[in-house]
Amino acid sequence: MPIQQVDYCLQNATLITPDEVVEQGWVAVQSGTIMDHGGPDRSQPQADAIVDLEGNYLLPGLIETHLCGMVGGDFREGRSAYQAILPTLPRFATTSVVATVVSAPPKNFSKHLEVARHAMGERLGARLLGLHLEGPYLNPEYAGLSGLGVLFQPSAEVGELLTREGAGVLKIVTLSPELPGSVEMIRTLARAGIVVSASHTEADAELLELAVQAGLRHITHLFDATRPRAEKEPLVPAPGFDDLVLIEDRLTASVIADGVHVPLDLLRLALRCKGSDRLVLVTDAFAGTATNLEHVTYPDGVEVTVGPDAHRVADSGALAGSLLTLDQALRNLYKWEMADLATAVRMATVTPATLLGLQDQLGRIAPGYQADLAVLDRNLRPVMTFVGGQRVWQHE
Ligand SMILES: [Zn+2]
Repeated sequence: MPIQQVDYCLQNATLITPDEVVEQGWVAVQSGTIMDHGGPDRSQPQADAIVDLEGNYLLPGLIETHLCGMVGGDFREGRSAYQAILPTLPRFATTSVVATVVSAPPKNFSKHLEVARHAMGERLGARLLGLHLEGPYLNPEYAGLSGLGVLFQPSAEVGELLTREGAGVLKIVTLSPELPGSVEMIRTLARAGIVVSASHTEADAELLELAVQAGLRHITHLFDATRPRAEKEPLVPAPGFDDLVLIEDRLTASVIADGVHVPLDLLRLALRCKGSDRLVLVTDAFAGTATNLEHVTYPDGVEVTVGPDAHRVADSGALAGSLLTLDQALRNLYKWEMADLATAVRMATVTPATLLGLQDQLGRIAPGYQADLAVLDRNLRPVMTFVGGQRVWQHE
């Protein structure tokens, strides 16, 4: 028996749900929600409209938890950046994003939270899930760009302030656990349900354990900007920070799979240790991404060259953010033969949704989930994107 009349049915697609792969699959959408899905063995509901996907892939829209900027905009700039970036993301199969603000001084927290809160209420394109504050509570030794000349003191009080002002908006805070007051702040934020993530850090095993017990759950851009291995004694290494993360099952981690920020063999190692349920694909992209610009000036005044492989500080050549998009990260993993398509898709859908506590609403093709969907061709290039059942972008 057909379930009921639905708004439309997407059919003739290879579904990557991503719990399973369904050939000649269909997805029925009603009022912005996925009603049902199946393959040729199940009858489709009656639909007001049919969209033939011509054998292309259909997957849950990608979920980005670490994006600082693109198309010339940087979330630190405020409203104009949201207006530029959110409508663009569906071109890259991304349907929701946690906007990331890097090293904002505390006096600007209220402003950033307010701008994000406002943008969450608008329908600009991709769904804005909230704000990710990366810093300013970062170890200057490992902060590179993000710490540039500023260091602020974390504390339980700051955590409480952020919890109060950021209610419903602040989703992720990245900090360095070794700063005095950090562990107290982790506890306060975690208690409020905010994802606390460590990075730009030299934390040792003992401190990492304290941080995890306080509520640390995640690691931001694994393998970038952390304490490397040292020598315990001649010819015997002491574990670096990332080694500790690889063997800690209570922690998930994000990776920038652009082939620049993480050497491919380390990416393989991370996948082998953490698996697709604990590894999240992110871009950590900045303003020059998806532009023809050769130079950009970040809102903090840093001069940056764009391309060919990343953003780099003009003076030093140091990495200053990627040029990656999430659809490219999928293509990379597939091209490097690191993951089958369903596994790669999981790392940009189910796993980030679970990190954010949204695993019952986003990140899967399943009944009751938001109809946030991406169509990719057989070369994994985006063709069409839906947010909340609305077709927000289609390849010309
Ligand atoms: Zn960073």
